[in-house]
Amino acid sequence: MRTFVPGMLDDEYESLRRTVAEFTDEEVAPVSAELDAKHEFPYELVAKMGDMGLFGLPFPEEHGGMGGDYFALCLALEEIARENQSLAMTLEAGVSLGAMPIYRFGTEEQKAQLLPQVIDGRGLAAFGLTEAEAGSDAGGTRTRAVLENGEWVVNGAKSFITNSGTDITKFVTATAVTGTRTGSDGSTKPEISTIIIPNGTPGFTPEPAYDKVGWNSSDTHPLTFEDVRVPEANLLGERGRGYANFLRILDEGRIAIAAVSVGAAQGCVDASVQYAKERTTFGKPIGDYQGISFKIARMEARVQTARAAYYAAASKMESGLPFKTEAAIAKMVASEAAMDNARDATQVHGGYGFMNEYLVARHYRDSKILEIGEGTTEVQQMLIARSLGL
Ligand SMILES: Cc1cc2nc3c(=O)[nH]c(=O)nc-3n(C[C@H](O)[C@H](O)[C@H](O)COP(=O)(O)OP(=O)(O)OC[C@H]3O[C@@H](n4cnc5c(N)ncnc54)[C@H](O)[C@@H]3O)c2cc1C
Repeated sequence: MRTFVPGMLDDEYESLRRTVAEFTDEEVAPVSAELDAKHEFPYELVAKMGDMGLFGLPFPEEHGGMGGDYFALCLALEEIARENQSLAMTLEAGVSLGAMPIYRFGTEEQKAQLLPQVIDGRGLAAFGLTEAEAGSDAGGTRTRAVLENGEWVVNGAKSFITNSGTDITKFVTATAVTGTRTGSDGSTKPEISTIIIPNGTPGFTPEPAYDKVGWNSSDTHPLTFEDVRVPEANLLGERGRGYANFLRILDEGRIAIAAVSVGAAQGCVDASVQYAKERTTFGKPIGDYQGISFKIARMEARVQTARAAYYAAASKMESGLPFKTEAAIAKMVASEAAMDNARDATQVHGGYGFMNEYLVARHYRDSKILEIGEGTTEVQQMLIARSLGL
């Protein structure tokens, strides 16, 4: 059994957490407002994170990784997200959504060929599940892949795919309908498989980036596939298991999003405590007024509750126990904590909190999507209710 308790990390995890916290404070914080304002992808920071081994954290050394685990990745995500959710999401999507499907479901050849391309910060992978008609209901995939003369011919489109259009994007793993199967009730259902599509394959086009409310330095594109031809060997995992495999990736990913959310919520507490001590009104620091200090006390309680929730989900996952419900609870509680704290932190900062250059304003814009991506709050509630037999 492995049990993670907030504030009681062992030396190895604590040392990683401190290293990433220092990197965040010294190298990420000073440039984040400008990257956000210019909507710039943080290539230099991503390369540095690659040098630090962050993109290889949960992978074995034989594949060029750091030999750590998923919880270590979550600790790193939390620290980076205090200052920059876009950067944290670049790491989250690159590792947990991009490289992890290859590690979990790839053949030895696929792992040997693809993992080294995307775990040193010099390359990124993307996860192509969502479509215009298939978001929460991701089984509604319309993209099709047909086997012709030893090649998959892929046609369709994906929406909102993170890390899919950068200069260093190496490949996207995309779900596609590859046939039909008979369901347990005798009805015919689409057979969904996953196909690896290398960047630059003719017919594969990352369309212009979305104009988003937040996560301005994170890369998000619609993708189109027009007669994209890739070898039959680019099937990832078993034929027909694509949807089920991606659901496993999303279960894990929810713990990672919870970690990002906790970092964001913590960033709001830190900025609010500092501001409440410095800003004076009516001759006193605003932190002396209970209207402000109680608000910040509630923000701190949200952070600690959400952190305990994601540590608990990670403890179960790393112990090899079922963790679907705990991951859903952690994702829901933590993303709500991030959004609530962003709203309260902006209030604590008054008019300055509405200025984009302030960290809390960025968290205010960035945090909303935490309640939507990798399963909306309503989807988490469906999973939790299902665990109760409802
Ligand atoms: C910035 C960004 C990055 C993203 N990155 C990726 C990525 O890398 N890869 C990827 O595949 N996808 C990605 N997504 C997609 C994201 O996961 C989806 O947007 C999300 O899952 C919701 O799907 P949808 O937008 O189609 O909303 P819908 O599914 O259309 O939902 C609309 C509303 O209806 C609610 N709803 C739906 N069904 C039910 C129900 N049964 N009961 C109650 N309420 C319901 C939802 O909770 C939501 O409030 C990204 C999205 C964004 C915005």
